[in-house]
Amino acid sequence: MIRKDLFAVAIVCAVLVAAPTVAQVGDPQWLSLFDGKTLDGWKASENEGTFEVVDGAIVAHGRRSHLFYAGPVEDANFHDFELKVDVMTELASNGGIYFHTQYQQRGWPAQGFEAQVNNSYLIDPRKTGSLYMVQDVSDSPVKDGVWFTEHIIVRGKSVIIRIDDRTVVDWTQPEPPQPPADMPERVLGDGTFALQGHDPISTVRYKNIYVKPLPPLEFPIVDYHVHLKGGLTLDEAIAISKQRGVKFGIAENCGLGFPTTNDQALEAFLQKLEGRPIYRAMQAEGREWVKLFSTETIARFDYVFTDAMTFTDQRGRRTRLWIPEEVQVDDPQAFMEMLVDKIVSILTDEPIDIYVNPTFLPAVIADDYDALWTDERMARVIDAAVKNHVAIEINARYRIPSERLIRKAKAAGAKFAFGTNNAGRDLGQLAYSRMMARRCGLTADDMFVPKPDGQKPVQTKGLPR
Ligand SMILES: [Zn+2]
Repeated sequence: MIRKDLFAVAIVCAVLVAAPTVAQVGDPQWLSLFDGKTLDGWKASENEGTFEVVDGAIVAHGRRSHLFYAGPVEDANFHDFELKVDVMTELASNGGIYFHTQYQQRGWPAQGFEAQVNNSYLIDPRKTGSLYMVQDVSDSPVKDGVWFTEHIIVRGKSVIIRIDDRTVVDWTQPEPPQPPADMPERVLGDGTFALQGHDPISTVRYKNIYVKPLPPLEFPIVDYHVHLKGGLTLDEAIAISKQRGVKFGIAENCGLGFPTTNDQALEAFLQKLEGRPIYRAMQAEGREWVKLFSTETIARFDYVFTDAMTFTDQRGRRTRLWIPEEVQVDDPQAFMEMLVDKIVSILTDEPIDIYVNPTFLPAVIADDYDALWTDERMARVIDAAVKNHVAIEINARYRIPSERLIRKAKAAGAKFAFGTNNAGRDLGQLAYSRMMARRCGLTADDMFVPKPDGQKPVQTKGLPR
């Protein structure tokens, strides 16, 4: 019992002591690629057993294998970026960090570049920090047995490699590119990262793997769609918010058939969140919510959002689009027309700030999203959002709306809000939202901000009575 408690204390201390040394923690531009516990999001080639996680680090030791990043950040496809990895070698070890590469089942990765890891592996003269075979470093700037940070910066045709804040490579790809004769794919482009397991003698550890896609998003990152569910507590949510540098809007589900159906319950929720460093959000559910609560109490929330996933269909059946048994699609085209009508009337009639889970389709027709969301249907939804000053969520969980819709909505002057609609502790994991914002060039001007008292939709537009 005592041993177990001491162990727990030791873990807590290790986390508290280790965290501040990583500058990337709490900076929302730097995204973690490694959870410190599992190889989730990574895929090993040939000899999978070469990689394991020990004490918060990926240990590469065994027959040749490469561990490719295959997780959700930027869909594992990076063009311009900064990458930081903490690395520690043992005597006579070889490793490396590939970028702009792609998964291959066997052999040394053919595509992309390797930033070398080698402090004392004698038979290879290319030492730590080398841009392998392109601009090599002959003396390692660091030693075995000591953690060092390898920092790779790729921007346009330029590659910079820094070891513990000292620049060891500053290279620009010539035009046309002149890759080494036996490495024709060593050319800048885009791709993922890979960690190298070189051979059974080498042992190399990698940890604190953070990427900053470039250019960075130039507005504060907020997850406006967080629920305290799956056992997540308010204190935990606030701790995660600090750690990730992402502000959260915590939402209560309010409406018929949901826990909160009157002003008193709204009041209790507001009290619980009073004075905490988060936004207080109301998720309006179903279409009956407009009759359940007073304007005054609704206006005390920072913002109100709703989706178009709960409604009564043409035949009077309550329909929740995420529950297959409640969804009847006889004719997909007719269903779409009905759905678009519902969305437009919600955006037009209900005093909301954000339309969340936007363009969500039920599972039976979700595969046909791109065909069913025609230009004309998109235009109707975008038009209603813009006219009624309702922001459109870019939802990371469902990966909606599509890039095509976001581009059209931006062009039409719509505002956007990031949201996870978290299932549990995945709050703030906004990989899809960030990627879309970067691809579609969203700036601070395109982003939703909560309205001040007096200008909230429930105050300006009012509840339909
Ligand atoms: Zn929700």
